[in-house]
Amino acid sequence: MICANNFPALESSFFPYETLLMGAGPVPQSPTVRQANTHIASHLGERMDEVVEQLKAMARYAFQTITAWIFGLSGPGSAAAEMAIGNLVHRGSRVLAISSGHFGLRMFEMALRHQATVLLFEFDGKDAFPLDRLHALLEQQDFDVVTLVQGETSSTTLNPKLSSIAALCKKHGALVVVDTVCTLGTTEVLMDKWQLDVVFCGGQKGLSSIPGVSLIAFSPEAWESVVQRKFTPTQWCYTHCWRKSSGITIDITTRHR
Ligand SMILES: *Cc1c(COP(=O)(O)O)cnc(C)c1O
Repeated sequence: MICANNFPALESSFFPYETLLMGAGPVPQSPTVRQANTHIASHLGERMDEVVEQLKAMARYAFQTITAWIFGLSGPGSAAAEMAIGNLVHRGSRVLAISSGHFGLRMFEMALRHQATVLLFEFDGKDAFPLDRLHALLEQQDFDVVTLVQGETSSTTLNPKLSSIAALCKKHGALVVVDTVCTLGTTEVLMDKWQLDVVFCGGQKGLSSIPGVSLIAFSPEAWESVVQRKFTPTQWCYTHCWRKSSGITIDITTRHR
């Protein structure tokens, strides 16, 4: 039997003062964000519907998109990345993972775990992005999905060529998945104008919100490919799934929003 009073307490000096971290995150939150996070509301009912609708409207503003397929997740930015890859990539998918560091490699690794055929396209984030090299590759090989990071935290570099890269990939028929975990709220992210198909971010970086929550948006084209897909995702969490039970079809993602 373990008694509650056996737990070691943290010294009161453990958090002696507010720590200002100057990394990508976690970042300080404004008092209004902290206050909002203390409210408890039922996760069911009209009130929560209003909250969800407001969250979606604000997320559309942040990503600069009018897509209907936008979600708040209870999970960190990495969970949103899993949602992007798990819904679009399967055994045999052809994936191009563009990387200049740790977070680009993460999506490469995720696509591999879904048994896709993945090509890693590495570049040095401190140099100009090799658009010619990408163009030549896309002329030679077809890809279903291209993944890349707008702001690569590990090499502290921003990819200013995102819109040209996305335009090139779209022209060659690939869906473009972009990690904006470090950049949403700190620099421009124009999802619709730049033709990005899936964009995601976490709470505790540029948005200055709480950790453990994230946002993800799918373009209508990307969502169509999710709904029309012929495979059952290997991961259960964060994947859209049609279930037929007693003749009723339930769209689980839409119900849980
Ligand atoms: C921090 C970070 C992530 C991971 O986000 P978590 O919320 O920590 O899971 C992904 N991509 C980039 C570019 C990041 O900076």
